[in-house]
Amino acid sequence: MLYLALALILIAVALLWQSGRERAQAGLPGGRIVYTDTRAWGRVEKPLLSADLGLTGKPDYLVQQGRAMIPVEVKSGRPPEAPYDSHIFQVAAYCLLVEKTYNTRPPYGIIHYSGRDFAVDFTPQLESALMDQLAEIRRDETRTKVGRSHEDAARCRKCGFRKVCDQSLA
Ligand code: SF4
Repeated sequence: MLYLALALILIAVALLWQSGRERAQAGLPGGRIVYTDTRAWGRVEKPLLSADLGLTGKPDYLVQQGRAMIPVEVKSGRPPEAPYDSHIFQVAAYCLLVEKTYNTRPPYGIIHYSGRDFAVDFTPQLESALMDQLAEIRRDETRTKVGRSHEDAARCRKCGFRKVCDQSLA
């Protein structure tokens, strides 16, 4: 039993290490756990918009830190060990929108899971990876057939296009 437990721990560590490596190769910061004071968070009433980028979105909160405005995205559910890539890209998009709107670049954005907050550094590498994703989305918009980009049935179950999607897993 002890050997089995040890083997499972080793597998978990290897998987974590591997996902961290893949993320590092993709240029994505992993996110670092931070303490945040939620009393300083201000709700965002209107979506932020960048006509140049064709991008709009509304972070849940903005926090003023000196001259910097830090976007905060709140996620429900069990907190992961490290932020999901989709959440990293979402907060990166908010960082970019904040930079375009307020003319000041946030050094990082925050992903708030239940009981755990991660700061995601808004590095030039992350911005570049985000721009690649946006370009890919724009290319997809002109295609008549776009392949599914994941194997996550739970995601399909929550998707509004599930009933008309021929690639739904749910
Ligand atoms: S139902 Fe289709 S569009 Fe929705 S998440 Fe699944 S594959 Fe994507």
